[in-house]
Amino acid sequence: MIPVREDLRALEGYHSPQIDVKVRLNTNESPLPPPPAWRDALAGEMSRVEWHRYPDRHATELREAIAAWHGVSPDMVFAANGSNEVLQTILLTYAGPGRTVATFEPTYQMHAQIARVVGSRVVEGERRADFTLGAEEIARVVGAAAPHVVFLTSPNNPTGLVEPAQRVEQLLSLAPGLVVVDEAYAQFADWSALGLVDESRPLVVTRTFSKTWSMAGVRLGYAIGPAWFVRALEAVVLPYHLDAAKQISGRLALRFVDEMDARVQLIVSERERISAAMRAMPIDVTPSGANFILFRPRAVPGRELWQALVDRDVLVRDCSAWPRLTDCLRVTVGTPDENDVFLAALAAALHANARVHR
Ligand code: PMP
Repeated sequence: MIPVREDLRALEGYHSPQIDVKVRLNTNESPLPPPPAWRDALAGEMSRVEWHRYPDRHATELREAIAAWHGVSPDMVFAANGSNEVLQTILLTYAGPGRTVATFEPTYQMHAQIARVVGSRVVEGERRADFTLGAEEIARVVGAAAPHVVFLTSPNNPTGLVEPAQRVEQLLSLAPGLVVVDEAYAQFADWSALGLVDESRPLVVTRTFSKTWSMAGVRLGYAIGPAWFVRALEAVVLPYHLDAAKQISGRLALRFVDEMDARVQLIVSERERISAAMRAMPIDVTPSGANFILFRPRAVPGRELWQALVDRDVLVRDCSAWPRLTDCLRVTVGTPDENDVFLAALAAALHANARVHR
């Protein structure tokens, strides 16, 4: 075996274990597929692609479609293979050896993970016990670390909390480097930082087709930021990184905005229904602006409840051993039927457990 780079030895990678159960609510995907008309349009266009040629290196039509939808100019759009590759390209460009990246934990693990892989120093700010982020903590971290890149995730994963606009504005006024707001779940919430993006501010918003667009299988994400930022990323990313199939998939998806909005509305109303039902149980529920809910049972260890749900054919994300998330589980909002199965399994598991512990 050849040893890997010294500074990568402690890395464990990012895992989301899959188990064969009937109801899978553990990876924040959309429970519904994209519309059949999108599939048909995709099949039609795919049959006409010149597969022996490299794809459009600048993803011109896709970027124009995304830009038109957001009301920005196409030179403010950078697209890549999932928002994970967008985040990686940002960090390859603006972080790395000798540079510092700041996160506010607990948050999406890939921010710190990729930052470390590219050789940056990571400074972790702390959220409060209720997972909200204090203005004083932002000031402390930015003041002490002067980060080249600082991340905020809104709605945050895995907590679901939406970051108030003042936090982004505060970061913009204090941070010396790039401010990245990861908005993988923003369409499920009622606020977005997109309106703050312009040429004069070092603010970037990242989005994905994996959740609201029901296209996790496509692997497509993008950033909206100043044109100077997009040009910098284009100089770093691999040539032809975005294949022809992906460019077509995304461009065609944007013809089905109404269908996407309808799916988002369904998920949001289901999220509120599940949250209300869970609040009537002996569980602490974090308010969510996303398509998932973080919760902590009061009288049972989280890991035991997770297993009891698996025994009832429901898989949720076990965060109970993650730093700062003792006993927490995260459930993705599914179809109304899946959510009914989840709620019934949850009630039964808590009831059975109450008997055991009595
Ligand atoms: N950001 C956040 C906050 C996420 O939760 C996820 C997916 N788990 C991603 C980015 C990555 O999404 P994708 O690469 O599928 O676009």
